[in-house]
Amino acid sequence: MKIDIQINNERIFAQVAMLVENETFQWQIEEHRKHLSKKYGVVPPITNEEFSQFMRDMFRTKKQLELDEEVRQIRYFFLLPMTFNRLITKVLFCNEINEKDTPIAQEHSFDEYIDEKTVISTPYVMFAPDASDKDILNAITRNSPYSTPFYWKTGKKTHAIREHRDWYWKVKEAEEKIGDEREKIETTRRKAIDTIINEVNNKCPMHGEEKYIDTTQKCSCIDLSTVQKGVDNFSKLRTTSIR
Ligand SMILES: [Zn+2]
Repeated sequence: MKIDIQINNERIFAQVAMLVENETFQWQIEEHRKHLSKKYGVVPPITNEEFSQFMRDMFRTKKQLELDEEVRQIRYFFLLPMTFNRLITKVLFCNEINEKDTPIAQEHSFDEYIDEKTVISTPYVMFAPDASDKDILNAITRNSPYSTPFYWKTGKKTHAIREHRDWYWKVKEAEEKIGDEREKIETTRRKAIDTIINEVNNKCPMHGEEKYIDTTQKCSCIDLSTVQKGVDNFSKLRTTSIR
């Protein structure tokens, strides 16, 4: 049984190859495959698409519990972490392994049962003990539907939410101080923004007053539009759903 391993990373490829080429592992998979058609109604090997459909059909059924148990037996035999569950399940049915089956990081959901029919599922990513910083970053990027954008561009530079929040509150607090005197609002806002610009530009390594000139670093000066966009972006964020 030759498994096609479609994984780019050399280290993860080696880890997967060591397992799927192991003779005892191959023998176990072949033994399990013998009864899969009778038990689950599919004859391996099936394609990636067929596998995805099969897993969707099985979702939260009694059959899935039985399959999970088969996978667990194989995993325990080889003393592998839980992140191998998907890989083992895939090899039971398919002759192809791809990036989605990586044993380094697997997306799961934590299920809380409210009653027999209601469940709240919170997705999370589970990592193998030997996952590197890069693996973690890749997995989180790949599972991005659940992440919140922490950085966005304004003008020529990229600023963090931390800075925009700070600007937003400086402007808002200045506006709140003037109370009902609406005619002063534009000048107050402008004054607050100018103060922010001065504070930021004074810290610029090339033009700032707080440090001596350091030509090895880039200019970090900002202008009026940078602050305005930052404040606007943060205001919008306050009224946007976090999902
Ligand atoms: Zn500068």
